[in-house]
Amino acid sequence: MIKIGVTGTFCAGKDTFAQHLMNKGYEHLSLSDLIREEADRMGIEKTRDNLWKLGNELREKEGNGVLAKRALMRFKDGKNYVVTSIRHPLEVKELASKHGFILIKIIAPVETRFKRILERKDRKENDPKTFQEFLEKENREMSSTSASEQKINECMDMAKFTIVNDSSQEEFFRRINEILPVLESSAMYLRPDWDDYFMEIALLVGKRGTCDRGRSGCVIVKDKKIMTTGYVGAPPGLAHCDDVGHWFKKTIHNDGSITQHCIRTVHAEANAIAQAAKNGINIEGGIIYCNMEPCLDCTKLLISAGIKRVVCNKKYHASKESREMLEEAKIKIEVLHDEVEQYIGQK
Ligand SMILES: [Zn+2]
Ligand SMILES: [Zn+2]
Repeated sequence: MIKIGVTGTFCAGKDTFAQHLMNKGYEHLSLSDLIREEADRMGIEKTRDNLWKLGNELREKEGNGVLAKRALMRFKDGKNYVVTSIRHPLEVKELASKHGFILIKIIAPVETRFKRILERKDRKENDPKTFQEFLEKENREMSSTSASEQKINECMDMAKFTIVNDSSQEEFFRRINEILPVLESSAMYLRPDWDDYFMEIALLVGKRGTCDRGRSGCVIVKDKKIMTTGYVGAPPGLAHCDDVGHWFKKTIHNDGSITQHCIRTVHAEANAIAQAAKNGINIEGGIIYCNMEPCLDCTKLLISAGIKRVVCNKKYHASKESREMLEEAKIKIEVLHDEVEQYIGQK
């Protein structure tokens, strides 16, 4: 799914751009249509001014990314979208938080744009009639000192691509056709944030694990630099679970329930700490990225080693005690994906 967001100056050709993409099979989603729907629900007349006010009120009430959040729920897999009426930087941020989004801005000289509005066939009642009115309206919409009002200027600064629509419509279409393949391939690239970046590395490290009960991996990071890594496996030189099978021990709990654990391995987190000790690396104050919530033993080691934040890809099915201990130690634990890590023979 590709989502091309379009921003730009008033009357620069954003709607023509959207229409051109729709002719190529794109679906259209306008954030201001979401405001229009809200106006219908509230029985408000849909003038440009009213919609502008209502948009700002919505952002004030439900947060500045509210329209983009609502839009994200409408996108359907297997379809491509052109998204118009993006007017706030947090809307851009929200849309860009999901894979497959790219923002382009359409600009044109102010005189050209004013001329276009005068020549527009479907002129609206509230359209500016003089050049002065046009400029005033534009200034109001482009930037604002209030956090929740439209900030098109800031949105435009976030666009990675620009089309200058200062010539004929044919030329505009030619420019769109030329840039479209570049937009589509750029949309498919998403630069990971730091948490995602280190987590990807932790998951890769885990692939070296030699016990398939989780095949856990982790990295310990300080100041955005990797200090040490670890994966689950038997101590160096000893037989691996993958070669000789697990070494199970049963645990009988106070309530009578029985769980079994493979005790052949050193866990990823413990291995990372051991590697730091071996190499004389100070990990105090570090962040650990691991593929599931740490077990109780590793949790104790992490607290002792001075780790300050624990980031997990998924949950661990028996993490209750670890969580309680981390909370007591005032160490932050975050899980990026709200699901439990599954492996064969888990109980
Ligand atoms: Zn094992
Ligand atoms: Zn562990």
